[in-house]
Amino acid sequence: MSERYARQILFYGIGREGQKILEEKTAVLVGCGALGCTSANLLVRSGIQCLKIIDRDYIEESNLQRQSLFDEEDISKNLPKAVAAQKKLQKVNSQIQIEAIVADLSPSTLESILKNANVVIDGTDNFETRFLINDYCVKEGIPWIYGACIGSIGLTMNIIPSKTPCLRCVLESIPPVGATETCDTEGIIAPIASMIASIQAAEALKILTENYDALNKGLVKIDLWLNEIKKLHTEDIREKSDCITCKQHHYEFLSKDRYSTTTSLCGRNAVQILHPNGSKLDLEKLAARLEHVGEVSFNSFLLRLKLDKYELTVFPDGRSIVTGTNDASVAKGLYAKYIGM
Ligand SMILES: [Zn+2]
Repeated sequence: MSERYARQILFYGIGREGQKILEEKTAVLVGCGALGCTSANLLVRSGIQCLKIIDRDYIEESNLQRQSLFDEEDISKNLPKAVAAQKKLQKVNSQIQIEAIVADLSPSTLESILKNANVVIDGTDNFETRFLINDYCVKEGIPWIYGACIGSIGLTMNIIPSKTPCLRCVLESIPPVGATETCDTEGIIAPIASMIASIQAAEALKILTENYDALNKGLVKIDLWLNEIKKLHTEDIREKSDCITCKQHHYEFLSKDRYSTTTSLCGRNAVQILHPNGSKLDLEKLAARLEHVGEVSFNSFLLRLKLDKYELTVFPDGRSIVTGTNDASVAKGLYAKYIGM
């Protein structure tokens, strides 16, 4: 074994045996924002076999304050987050497999993305996707690690199916949009994201090296501004609850009917539109068609059309992010007019 992992092998909790086990494991990171950048970096350096990074978005200037894998050049190249992260991390560790998936995690896409995961790490910013991960992971018995932060506050919890409470046990239903603050309305300081992501990465290492006894039990809540670290004990919640997911085995978030083709990207003044049947767009042809409509730029990952008030970013699978509106019908109208269903 190379020198690369020597210090990690020296650590009593991992050792030569743990390192060997780690090198056969696959982690899937859903969402490569502030949390995801840090956890991806730590896991790639640890020497797992494969990291899959799924993210639906591209990089914006306001991300650079806390999303540590990205830089100004990535923005000027219009790179999707997953692609920029993959490129950077592959330079850090060329010996492992890193896969970038530019897509929305939905009931149609999740099976192929999550099926071989040994652990799933939450780097998302919304409960719709977290409950989707929760349903799939509980159903398939895959451990996953919840993480969230806002302002100076962060939360994290391990979900080990049939052993610990699931996310649904703890949070009965999705908080209605607008009822919870988001990073776009409340702001965030970067250190809380690194801290929560570091805990997630440490817990992932324990899961992947099969050190289950060392796992953190309960919900961790940290406020870095008020200097508070709390642990909420959740051990007996699962026994007492009649959870629809982990007790009744009713996985409502996996239903394709439930999933909307439009999602308002909370706080960003943007709407995501999924192509109803998926599509394979030729971005070069589309660019030629749109060049008289507005300012068009494209690369192999995305096409951008700038109009007066709006901006449409279109991905090869037909998915689009329309900025300049929160109104799904306005976004759909623009999509139908310029991209076509
Ligand atoms: Zn549950």
